[in-house]
Amino acid sequence: MDSILRLVNPQREAERRWVHSALAKLQQESARSADTHLLKLNFPGFHGIDFYFKDEASHPTGSLKHRLARSLFLYALCNGRLRDGQAVVDASSGSTAISEAWFARMLGLHFIAVMPACTAPGKIRDVQALGGECDLVDDPAQVHARAAEHAARGACHLDQFGLAERATDWRGNNNIAESIIGQLALEAEPEPEWIVCGAGTGGTSATIGRYLRYRRLHSRLCVAEPAGSGFVHGWRTRDPHAVASQPTLIEGIGRPRVEPGFLFDVVDRVVEVPDSASIAAAWLLEELLGRRYGGSSGTNFVACLQLAASMRARGQRGSIVSLLCDRGERYAQTLFDPSWLAAHDIDIAPWDAALRASLATGTTPMATSPTA
Ligand SMILES: *Cc1c(COP(=O)(O)O)cnc(C)c1O
Repeated sequence: MDSILRLVNPQREAERRWVHSALAKLQQESARSADTHLLKLNFPGFHGIDFYFKDEASHPTGSLKHRLARSLFLYALCNGRLRDGQAVVDASSGSTAISEAWFARMLGLHFIAVMPACTAPGKIRDVQALGGECDLVDDPAQVHARAAEHAARGACHLDQFGLAERATDWRGNNNIAESIIGQLALEAEPEPEWIVCGAGTGGTSATIGRYLRYRRLHSRLCVAEPAGSGFVHGWRTRDPHAVASQPTLIEGIGRPRVEPGFLFDVVDRVVEVPDSASIAAAWLLEELLGRRYGGSSGTNFVACLQLAASMRARGQRGSIVSLLCDRGERYAQTLFDPSWLAAHDIDIAPWDAALRASLATGTTPMATSPTA
């Protein structure tokens, strides 16, 4: 009698049923979603080199953080950390918060995004429109502490910076690397020379770097980062305490310090890109692709051209794959507003000329530029 009572503990059973229904909702969402496109571009200066851009802006929540948010909710549920009626919190400067708010609403949970008060107003509105609460913190260095306070009061901390590297199934499950390699199957160069991405949480680079090794591909991983970021200094010296030597205007990447998810050993090369070059490249991508993407997509594009120029100089052919990380509409009042650029003392004209020269002649965009 006693053991039967324990077996059918109604509260535990109800909790278990809720977790099952939440997991079913995430699986249904995944089944409804299409994979993101891999767009191909070729440029006159780079004969024999194919460029591919994975359009992560086409996720329902507009960025590659859609994948991360889905993984973080799955990880919390499967670890028994997330229960019916529990609030959910994370520290995020925007893209992750938008995706997490979307999934929280789907699961009927209250979501709190802890953000620096200086976050782009459009991103704050996006989180609020999805029913999320934005807890704005004046000092950006305090966001983690504030998220921990919410967690101490009972909220489930999704913890993108702490868990991004492990929440994603790097061996497969259609992670971003498996998806890219699968989509290249029928191409002339199905095994890319390089895959290029940035580092925010470090989750994307960790997944790609591990997957390339696991599948025994010859492709190498390049991290494209704003000049002087924490990742740049940390990768060089393998120093977990490295900090950035300069701030960046590019959202989503260029962290001020080394995050727990930065796996330096799976990264073969780091290319540093000045902010004005990234912004000029984001403008140019709009012309090339007919759609706006964010600043970190521009950073990736500059690094792709840098790598292509050295391939060309060695007479090497092959393919280079990179990511379009988020929608450019989010930056209409910032990176895509000429008066905002002027107020931040950014002149994209010399970089625009350098990038166009690179596309036309196959030279590196960074050596030819007059300013850094
Ligand atoms: C998060 C983010 C990145 C970096 O991806 P991680 O997997 O977090 O390293 C790049 N661009 C944008 C716009 C992002 O939001």
